[in-house]
Amino acid sequence: MNHDTSHALFERARALLPGGVNSPVRAFKSVGGEPFFVARADGAYLHDVDGNRYVDYVGSWGPMIVGHNHPKVRNAVQDAIGNGLSYGAPCPAEVTMAETIARLVPSCEMVRMVNSGTEATLSAIRLARGATGRAKIVKFEGCYHGHGDSFLVKAGSGALTFGVPTSPGVPKALADLTLTLPYNDFDAATALFDEAGADIAGLIIEPVVGNANCLPPREGYLQHLRALCTRHGALLIFDEVMTGFRVALGGAQARYGVAPDISTFGKIIGGGMPVGAYGGRRELMQQIAPAGPIYQAGTLSGNPVAMAAGLAMLELISAPGFHDRLEATTHALCDGLEAAARDAGVPFTTTRVGAMFGIFFTDAPTVDTYAQAVVCDTAAFNRFFHAMLDRGVFLAPSAFEAGFVSAAHDDAVVAATLAAARDAFGVVAAG
Ligand code: PMP
Repeated sequence: MNHDTSHALFERARALLPGGVNSPVRAFKSVGGEPFFVARADGAYLHDVDGNRYVDYVGSWGPMIVGHNHPKVRNAVQDAIGNGLSYGAPCPAEVTMAETIARLVPSCEMVRMVNSGTEATLSAIRLARGATGRAKIVKFEGCYHGHGDSFLVKAGSGALTFGVPTSPGVPKALADLTLTLPYNDFDAATALFDEAGADIAGLIIEPVVGNANCLPPREGYLQHLRALCTRHGALLIFDEVMTGFRVALGGAQARYGVAPDISTFGKIIGGGMPVGAYGGRRELMQQIAPAGPIYQAGTLSGNPVAMAAGLAMLELISAPGFHDRLEATTHALCDGLEAAARDAGVPFTTTRVGAMFGIFFTDAPTVDTYAQAVVCDTAAFNRFFHAMLDRGVFLAPSAFEAGFVSAAHDDAVVAATLAAARDAFGVVAAG
């Protein structure tokens, strides 16, 4: 494959953008090599500036659940654009969006629109702190909630170890307020709440982890966290930026039957436009300004063009059977990948939840903890990633990201992916 134009663009980008990109994982740093630059996207495919085509399992990191450039979403955006781009005053689509989210996700009795997943999670923990009068928050190793200061904290040893900032620029005093837990460990969560429960404003979790590869919750785990939060007066926050409207129409909370106090969303509700949202119980959301004293605002929040894209997307995915079809695609893909790996003699397994999947180069039959995910063979993943890219299949450029399928990934696309994978596992086996 020729990448001359991409290479030239990356050189120019590196001169002016840190690392040549506007978001770190795009830079291919962990897999090596250079990113391709996209000229256009259609259905299941990305087309780069050198004329190469890739089957896309990144889907803009989640939003493109109906496939790229869907005519219904495009038309909705084109119609909205004709009426102006931003008003700084209320518009009807904001009300329809709030009604749609509240209908699809009943735990969200009220909703506030924002512009990204990061804004949604930052606002959710401010609400949790403001509503409880407590300062500490609990997060999980390997979960990502955007780049807010309080979330860039990794675990020390033991559940009660105070957080250590992962990034320079995060004050130690703030990081101390973030407690971390190992995901899917029942006893560690119980012990942390027994020790510090009275100080915990909220616990935030990706109910299916999508930022440490893809880690499904163990049976009863989300229910256990729900019970702990209720017992100790802490708020349960589901970060459904990835899982929302994807692992089921009602998100992970519908799939697992656990109602959080606050939910955060992004991605799909913008249909590819920059959008996020948070919502929750009415008496909590009534504390947000201007209804209440907890301040949160946004010049472009509820933008009419973004609302139009998101509403078109939500209508498409509300069609009966939509999520069942996606789930069947995920299973066909993952079963096929496992079979191809087995044939090539490569230790490998997958996880899947709805339209999300994880691929792991490991002997373990399944992976559902962060500790297991980080010891998988990342060198093998990197070889596989490049072998697939060379054959026209784009996987997330990191061993620690979930993959996504869309409605445009039909049988032919999956078959082409599996043909590439049979070769790529051969490359991995050859070392
Ligand atoms: N929460 C989760 C679970 C995410 O996966 C992400 C981004 N991938 C975010 C929050 C942050 O969203 P954004 O990048 O839109 O700020």
